[in-house]
Amino acid sequence: MAMITCKECGKEFSDKADKCPNCAAPIEYSREFGVPYEAPPSLIKKKLSICLLISLIVGVLYLIYSVFYWSGAASSGSDAYEQIGAGIATALVMPHLIATFIAAIFNALGLIMKKRGFALAGAILYSVAMVLFPMYFMFVIIEVILSFIGYARTPKY
Ligand SMILES: [Zn+2]
Repeated sequence: MAMITCKECGKEFSDKADKCPNCAAPIEYSREFGVPYEAPPSLIKKKLSICLLISLIVGVLYLIYSVFYWSGAASSGSDAYEQIGAGIATALVMPHLIATFIAAIFNALGLIMKKRGFALAGAILYSVAMVLFPMYFMFVIIEVILSFIGYARTPKY
């Protein structure tokens, strides 16, 4: 029994099957017989949506948390030196938060408009946010992974 790699989703399946058990792409398509194949749009949208939706929720929750945390930190200093320290910390974290914010916008656009290009832009911007403030990578890495999955698992139209 030979195995065949699905051209649509990359899963290996038996050449005895007439279609991929994972995504239902016909075997002729994966054998490159020149048979055109288009994944059902409903399937594409579902895959893209779930990843991007979770990514967006985590991203937005993180942003809301950050805004409260950093606005609190900036005003909590009891003396001038503490306020300066908090001000520097806020200034350092700002580019990271701005990148996360823009990433969340692209993330939302990808989700609403079902465009993988926006999903990719979101994924890259989340990565940029992670690089800008590596200390907080754990808050952004989920969005990075999910956005890239959302992008990668969505075939080109
Ligand atoms: Zn497949």
